[in-house]
Amino acid sequence: MHIGNDHVSPDFYAWLFPKCDHVAVGMGTSAQNPISNTSTATKARANLKIEGGKVIKVEAHPMPQHPRPIRVRGQVTLVGDTAGYLTHCSGEGIYFAAKSGRLCVEAIVKATKGGENMISEDDLKREYLRK
Ligand SMILES: Cc1cc2nc3c(=O)[nH]c(=O)nc-3n(C[C@H](O)[C@H](O)[C@H](O)COP(=O)(O)OP(=O)(O)OC[C@H]3O[C@@H](n4cnc5c(N)ncnc54)[C@H](O)[C@@H]3O)c2cc1C
Repeated sequence: MHIGNDHVSPDFYAWLFPKCDHVAVGMGTSAQNPISNTSTATKARANLKIEGGKVIKVEAHPMPQHPRPIRVRGQVTLVGDTAGYLTHCSGEGIYFAAKSGRLCVEAIVKATKGGENMISEDDLKREYLRK
């Protein structure tokens, strides 16, 4: 992991994770920094580990760091990353994804009263979002 390095990831961190039959190389950056600069620097640092290999997948994702203004509509609700439950400073989101999923399900179980009631938007807002 490269942390606090201006060339590879000025505002997050870069990584080189050995997987079963490949290597995952990546970096986090903000929209203000051109990803082409940081990816070139990261590739250069990963050079020995990826020499002779081929690129099998390229992907990029925005990290949802702010709670979405609308997280419940009708009987549809968002949890985890889709709800924007990611910590801004660290990018941690696994705990909040699991926790929000659990809170949501508990709210549904409570509001349906053992399967007797149909849940409403208000039930989800009152129980899940409030918690
Ligand atoms: C590089 C990186 C490093 C990270 N490191 C950490 C860390 O160290 N610690 C930490 O806590 N968090 C970390 N996070 C954040 C963490 O991965 C996420 O916050 C967490 O995985 C969110 O869980 P989730 O269930 O909300 O979403 P996801 O884990 O994204 O799960 C959503 C699932 O839905 C599937 N899906 C999408 N569309 C469809 C569809 N149409 N039909 C069916 N399935 C679909 C996807 O394939 C995916 O499996 C990291 C994220 C990244 C990108």
